[in-house]
Amino acid sequence: MSRALDSMPMHIVVCIKQVPDSAQIRVHPVTNTIMRQGVPAIINPYDLFALEQALRIKDSADARVTVLSMGPFQAEEALKKCLSYGADDAILVTDKSFAGADTLATTYALAAAIRQLDRQHPVDIVFTGKQTIDGDTAQVGPGIAVRLGWQLLTYVSRLREFDAAAKTITVERRAEGGVQVLESRLPCVITMLEDTNEMRFADMAGMFRAERYEVPRWDRSAAGIEDVSRIGLKGSPTVVAQVFAPKPKDVRAVTIEGETPRDKADRLLDRLFADNPALEATLLDHLETVETAK
Ligand code: FAD
Repeated sequence: MSRALDSMPMHIVVCIKQVPDSAQIRVHPVTNTIMRQGVPAIINPYDLFALEQALRIKDSADARVTVLSMGPFQAEEALKKCLSYGADDAILVTDKSFAGADTLATTYALAAAIRQLDRQHPVDIVFTGKQTIDGDTAQVGPGIAVRLGWQLLTYVSRLREFDAAAKTITVERRAEGGVQVLESRLPCVITMLEDTNEMRFADMAGMFRAERYEVPRWDRSAAGIEDVSRIGLKGSPTVVAQVFAPKPKDVRAVTIEGETPRDKADRLLDRLFADNPALEATLLDHLETVETAK
C-alpha cells in the first residue's frame, strides 16, 4: 500500500510487553532465564507512557493506535487493558518457536510483525517504552528501528509537534546535562521516558469493547517470518552466564563534625591518616619534591 495515501489516518504502533511483577521475579537456577509461571503479570510500566503519548496524538489527529506484543497467550490480558484505555487494535505475536528469544530474536520478530502491519496500513510511528523492568536492556526499541531502517528517537520526554501531512515530528529528548530538540521525518521509532505523562483511566465503553475484542494471534507465518533460525532460542546468541544480586558495600558514610570548614578538613585528614598510615608519609614526600622543584 502506498504511503502517499494522505487521506488515511496516521497509524501508530505501540509495543507492549507483559512483565512479571518485579517484586516476585524468580530466575531459573540452571538456565538463568526468568521464570514467569505463577508470577502475577503486569504491563511493563514504561510502556504505559508510550501508550498514553500515542493516545494523545490520536486525541488531536486522525490516527489509529495498534498495540503489539510478543509473548505467551496470557499477554492478551495486557493488550486488552490497552484497548480499554483507547487503543483501536491489538495483535499478539505468539508461537512456540519464539520461546527463549533474546533481544536480537525479539526485535527480529517484532520488526517482522510491524512490516506486516505496515503492509495493511502504513505505520507512521512505533512507540516503545525506554526499557522493561524485567529484561531491562533498553535494546528492543533501537533494535526494531535498525531492522526497519527507520529513524530512531530515544529517551523522548515530550512530543512538541507533528505534521501528519509533511510526515515530520519534533520531540524533546532528555540528554546528559540538558534537553535536545530533534526534528525527524516519519516513519520513526520513539522510545518514551518514564514520568512523561499520566495514563488515563479506562472508561466503561472502552472496557466493554476490550472485553468483546478478540485479539488476533499471529504465529510465525502470520508475522511474515520464514527463517526460523532468526527467532527463538535458535536466533539468540546471548548466553546468560550468571544472575546474582550485587553484595551491599560494607563501607558506610561518615559525618565529620567541626566548628569551621578548616576544623572539618583537619579532622578529615586526621581520620584519613589514621586509617592509612602510609598516606601521610607519601603526601609529605610529594610536597617536599614539589617544594624542591620550585
Ligand atoms: P527492553 O529492550 O528493555 O524493552 C524496551 C521496550 O521494547 C519495552 O518497553 C517495550 O515497549 C518493547 N518490548 C520489549 N519486549 C517486547 C515484547 N516481547 N513485545 C512487545 N514489545 C516489547 N523472555 C521470554 O519471555 N521468554 C523466554 O523464553 C526468554 N528467553 C530468553 C533467553 C535468553 C538467552 C535471553 C538473554 C533472554 C530471554 N528472554 C526471554 C528475555 C527476552 O529476551 C527479553 O525479555 C526481550 O528480548 C526484551 O528485552 P528487554 O526485556 O530487555 O526489553
